Amino acid sequence: MLQLAAYPRVRLGHFPTPLEFMPNLTRHLDGPNLYIKRDDCTGLATGGNKTRKLEFLVAQAIAEGADTLITQGAVQSNHARQTVAAAARMGMKCKILLEERVPNATDDYAHSGNVMLDGLMGGEIAARLPAGTNMQQAAEALAAELRQAGHKPYVIPGGGSTAVGALGYVACAQELLTQSFESGVRIDHVVHATGSTGTQAGLVVGLRASNSGIPVYGVSVRAPRQKQEENVWNLVQATVDYMGLPVSSIDRADIVANSDYVGEGYGIPTDGMIEAVRLTAELEGILLDPVYSGKGMAGLIDLIRSGHYKKGENVVFIHTGGAVGLFGYRTAFANSGSNAA
Ligand SMILES: *Cc1c(COP(=O)(O)O)cnc(C)c1O
Repeated sequence: MLQLAAYPRVRLGHFPTPLEFMPNLTRHLDGPNLYIKRDDCTGLATGGNKTRKLEFLVAQAIAEGADTLITQGAVQSNHARQTVAAAARMGMKCKILLEERVPNATDDYAHSGNVMLDGLMGGEIAARLPAGTNMQQAAEALAAELRQAGHKPYVIPGGGSTAVGALGYVACAQELLTQSFESGVRIDHVVHATGSTGTQAGLVVGLRASNSGIPVYGVSVRAPRQKQEENVWNLVQATVDYMGLPVSSIDRADIVANSDYVGEGYGIPTDGMIEAVRLTAELEGILLDPVYSGKGMAGLIDLIRSGHYKKGENVVFIHTGGAVGLFGYRTAFANSGSNAA
């Protein structure tokens, strides 16, 4: 085990999150035993994977004397919503910048789901910016303005994916290994949706540094394979540096990010995503999200059908949250019939 108590952390979430078996989806797909790690249940304003990162990031912001959190993301950003909630809890201000990254947005997408909750929790939407804007630069510019006015802003990059944020998923890896030991369930594979890379980088570092031998399979929701794997690898190295771990314990070959399930682009629905969200809802009563975990599960389902994962193996899907985003995609689900006859 790594000494994670050595890093500043504020408590924002409910941990450990449950590790559950999915009997019905397992039976339906007739493949490996499917488990789900319920990081959608981290507890912070409907939860999600950003809560783990924010526990370390917000602690650093407070240590630096910050009074305002600034972050950015797409309009339906789960990260922005959890950051606004963290700021509310810690008595800080929060300003967010939203990128209109998804084309042909419906009214629901523009105003419901996450973005509605941002406002409800006192987050200030400082600007909605066109797709392709350099969002990190815009966040830094906003921070500079606030400093001029005598405030103490702390900028959290998109998705909270820094070495500090990745510590949250190093912690998740350790939590998962403890649950595996206590339940007697040997874990053969971990699968999840990967975007800004903090989740995958943290899991890889945590599962490698502990010598577990468990491979992590990322399903990209945006970037092509090569680029996504490079981004994950860079953050793995930064995290290893930050923690002072021996670099030799992790290989470039440990980074896998399949981009076959992105479809037309970030946040654009695919048939596979619709099927995955419906199946998981109808068979297990578990809500995935349209942008991340739905595409991640679509990838897992396809990999099972094509024989990549086999009967007798135990596969853990990390549910990274985001179901609130479903309300922004009401029309995408309006006409999809049941697949789970
Ligand atoms: C941000 C997010 C992800 C991706 O995690 P990264 O650490 O950014 O790669 C996956 N699922 C949901 C629901 C998210 O909000």
